[in-house]
Amino acid sequence: MKVYSIGDIRNLGMIGHGDSGKTTLASALLYTAGAVNRLGRIDEGTTVTDFDLEEIERQISLTSSLCFCEWQNHKFNFLDTPGYGNFISDAKASLRVVDCALVVICGVSGVEVQTEKTWEFAEGFNLPRCILINKMDRERASFERALESIRGKFGRNVIPITLPIGSESDFQGLVDLVEMKAYYYKDGDTGKATPGDIPEELVDKAKKMREELIEMVAELDDKLLEKYFEDGELGSEDFAAGLKKGILKRHIFPVTSISAIKNIGTANLLDAILNYIPGPADTAEVSGIDPGTGEGKKIPCDPEGPSTSFVFKTIADPYSGRISVFRVYSGKMASDNTYYNISKKAQERFGSLLLLQGKEQQNISEVHAGDMAAVAKLKETTTGDTIGMKEHPVIFEPVKFPEPVISFAVEPKSRGDEEKMTSALTKLTEEDASLKITRDPQTQEFLLSGTGQLHVEVAVAKIKKKFGVDLILHPPKVPYLETITKSVEARGRYKKQTGGRGQFGDCQIKMDPLPRGSNFEFKDAIFGGSIPKQYIPAIEKGIQEARQKGVLAGYPLGDFRVTLFDGQFHTVDSSEMAFKIAGSMAFKQAAEQAGPILLEPIMNVVITAPEDNTGDIMGDLNSRRGRVQGIDPQGNVQQISAQVPMAEMLSYASDLNSMTGGRGSYAMEFSHYDEVPSHLATKIIESAKKQKEQES
Ligand code: GDP
Repeated sequence: MKVYSIGDIRNLGMIGHGDSGKTTLASALLYTAGAVNRLGRIDEGTTVTDFDLEEIERQISLTSSLCFCEWQNHKFNFLDTPGYGNFISDAKASLRVVDCALVVICGVSGVEVQTEKTWEFAEGFNLPRCILINKMDRERASFERALESIRGKFGRNVIPITLPIGSESDFQGLVDLVEMKAYYYKDGDTGKATPGDIPEELVDKAKKMREELIEMVAELDDKLLEKYFEDGELGSEDFAAGLKKGILKRHIFPVTSISAIKNIGTANLLDAILNYIPGPADTAEVSGIDPGTGEGKKIPCDPEGPSTSFVFKTIADPYSGRISVFRVYSGKMASDNTYYNISKKAQERFGSLLLLQGKEQQNISEVHAGDMAAVAKLKETTTGDTIGMKEHPVIFEPVKFPEPVISFAVEPKSRGDEEKMTSALTKLTEEDASLKITRDPQTQEFLLSGTGQLHVEVAVAKIKKKFGVDLILHPPKVPYLETITKSVEARGRYKKQTGGRGQFGDCQIKMDPLPRGSNFEFKDAIFGGSIPKQYIPAIEKGIQEARQKGVLAGYPLGDFRVTLFDGQFHTVDSSEMAFKIAGSMAFKQAAEQAGPILLEPIMNVVITAPEDNTGDIMGDLNSRRGRVQGIDPQGNVQQISAQVPMAEMLSYASDLNSMTGGRGSYAMEFSHYDEVPSHLATKIIESAKKQKEQES
């Protein structure tokens, strides 16, 4: 496999709304360039980048995947990213490592929700963008309407570099507005175009659009502008160089039309990537952090510099183990070499370097600055790490993934598969940083948390396909707590005489409420040996054990102090066991009289949604017993902060989705415990009693 130098590489991230055709387009581009020998189709499960069984079954991309092709001796790396809300964070991570985004838009629907979201991600990374109006072959596809929708959202700097010839079933090719040449394609053919005459009826329109494009190109360069005004034309070299500069500076967002499924327009796109789209050689340096000082550091993208790479993706492969995918920013990386993981401060032994073509892997001896590759079986490395040389330390800031917002309790279908389940889930969370597995210390449930219900369900389906473990999901139990509201005194006396030796323990305690979050305190205030020292830990243990099951609805009781102040013992019959039981009896009596109440977790919730939805969201929060704490406008969306009981938020993800048509998102974290209103507490206590009766 050839090794490419920095000027010969382009790194492109394909972004857009789900179903706009990103995956089909990636396969079509590879086919046109001769990297694969068939035109992959979603419905046949034959695309290069959607190879995961779960992706084939659902017909959507769930994670980003890497593929490449060679065009005119250049290497183009494509990262095909997911466009569905739940999986969108992976698109963000991919954009971190490309030099340009290809924004795929459906020629029928125009700009959609996730088109806007992924556009914002690209904006966040200051990425140049090229817009592709896809599905031009479909009924009701319209170049003009799609363009209007794109310009309406993203502004006047969106400008076509080609004009489609024909539309819907008659879509045949493109007029290249830079060269003023027409290119004709055949349906489903190799993707190579035949040059021809511009159709008569398009000549005037093409001329007008070309002028608009030239004016836009010349705007950025006074000399070009002068030349253009003098000559009324721009030479093709000046035109191409100006266009490339405009794209790099994000002054121009070029647009071209495609039918991925018929493979029309792909060769023009590959040429445009080659001629106008910025690559790694156009980025002089990248920003990192010096791990020693914590200060910013610029790393020149120099092929001769020290080896420095960024791991942007991890794949949990059931056969090869962990595969780390990285981009080289400086120097080169070679197979069978040792590098230093600067983020983890650990040496890593690299085996064979791999080029990824979807699921296929090819060995390669080395990769140079600007290129991407993968390596299997690194020990310490995870997504977001910087790998390089110990003597040239720098860390690239990892992409921040959204915190999970929805949790399900998860258990294996067959008992005994718990270990298999946790090991498989751990591997999957390495692959997907917005998926988390935790164990609730109180309910003892394993909680699988993700960015939405679909995200968690897909994780479970993947575990089955990849690791052969069947899992079941339930809504999680709300970790209620119990506490007391008054100070009381109580006595626990345990006395048993059965035949020979008896059992005797007697203790008197005072119980006081403590502030929220203090948990439990035990104070020994025995004077004069009314209970010998050796039995006192047993009393505390008895209370500790009994408080785990509370006195109202079986939830742990906390935030109180027990003072042991008196008691009695018997020289023969007293034992640790007897005092433990006496302790638990005293606890029960005291807690029942001390005004016990039920507490529930209250969450801090931050909701981001379009202004139009604010009224509905506030009304809905009200019905969930939420307290709105602030509304901040942020551009054309509003950020609503509120505190809401966890019990009311279990199905919030899908409810917010339907309230906002998929435009809303939210983040949630634990804030504090608060008393459950009494009418709800009564219900919870009753249902706990019923459940206990059923169990016994
Ligand atoms: P992605 O979710 O953006 O990756 O989109 P896919 O590549 O999975 O395509 C979504 C659906 O649109 C699939 O059924 C494709 O066959 C179909 N599709 C993709 N490109 C085209 C196209 O150019 N024309 C038509 N008619 N359908 C397309």
